Amino acid sequence: MTDFNWLKALFITLSLSMLAACNEQDNNEATAATDSSKTYRWKMVTTWPPGFPVLQKGAERFADNIKAMSNGRLNIKVYAGGELIPPLQTFDAVSQGTVEMGHGSAYYWAGKVPEAQFFSTVPFGLTARGMNAWLYDGGGLELWREVYKPFHVIPFPLGNTGVQMGGWFNKEINSLADIKGLKMRIPGLGGKVFAKAGGNPILLAGSEVYTSLERKTIDATEWIGPYHDQRLGLYRAAEHYYYPGWHEPGTVLELTVNQHAWDSLPADLQAIVSNAAQAENVRMLSEMEQKNLSALAELRQRKGVQIHRFPDDVLHKLKTLTNETLLEEAEKDPKFKRVYEAYQAFRQQNDAWSDISENAYIALQ
Ligand code: CA
Repeated sequence: MTDFNWLKALFITLSLSMLAACNEQDNNEATAATDSSKTYRWKMVTTWPPGFPVLQKGAERFADNIKAMSNGRLNIKVYAGGELIPPLQTFDAVSQGTVEMGHGSAYYWAGKVPEAQFFSTVPFGLTARGMNAWLYDGGGLELWREVYKPFHVIPFPLGNTGVQMGGWFNKEINSLADIKGLKMRIPGLGGKVFAKAGGNPILLAGSEVYTSLERKTIDATEWIGPYHDQRLGLYRAAEHYYYPGWHEPGTVLELTVNQHAWDSLPADLQAIVSNAAQAENVRMLSEMEQKNLSALAELRQRKGVQIHRFPDDVLHKLKTLTNETLLEEAEKDPKFKRVYEAYQAFRQQNDAWSDISENAYIALQ
């Protein structure tokens, strides 16, 4: 090829590819123009009481951020539990498309999807740090999405309570014998383990917790952490406050999105939702930590509040019983077993790393 012909060929090739690029751009602009002209008005229902700090407030902040980032194109109205539908019907409402979004925690759906509990928290399981690593980068979120797929629901992590407290007791727990027959409000897998240890787990809605403890219908209750526990006034109903919250080491809160609604969103709004969820996930945990450390300082000043660590033999026994409970559940249900095995595989590696990183460092303090 002569230089001239070579240049001519190059010119033609460049012109053609530039034309192609222009066409592509025109098409994209046409699509974007259609999408950006549309405003989406969505509803989100939550499992939290109206105005509930950190959790309900976080869900509302998430919706406000999406509105700001999308310049008002995605407008989400957030309803607290009971305002539109009962709190524990959140998952079904999102699944059926009655609403586009929900906020709660996966273990609330344990009756319908037992393996969902691993995406919330399990006793003696991963903390917030480990859960984020598993979900975002260790295959956990993909597995979670598979689990919810038959329900036409897409989950996203959206907040974390951090390590919870062990609960309020009307007497000291000095040995396993003190747990025998003890009536405690402790839900989920933690409740199953507590029953194996000889305790009597009681199911109670959050709204009944304080009155039941105060009237001695129950002997003990867990709730969340120092901030929410103090706000509920639990220190007025029982004086012994135990740690650590072995049953909830880092409860993940979830955003659920109806699959059909998600598919109807243009790619830029999907990216906004996805990134706003990651941002709020960090923010809620940070807010929870700050409020808890501040409330702990206040609780320590309150007359009568006694803060204790559970005795080692009690914690050791509860851990053994947790391992047994998880194995039993896995034997009964292949779907539970699949998630259990994935979780355990990640957790073993996580524990090995934590032992020589975070845990080793904390041991220096
Ligand atoms: Ca709790």
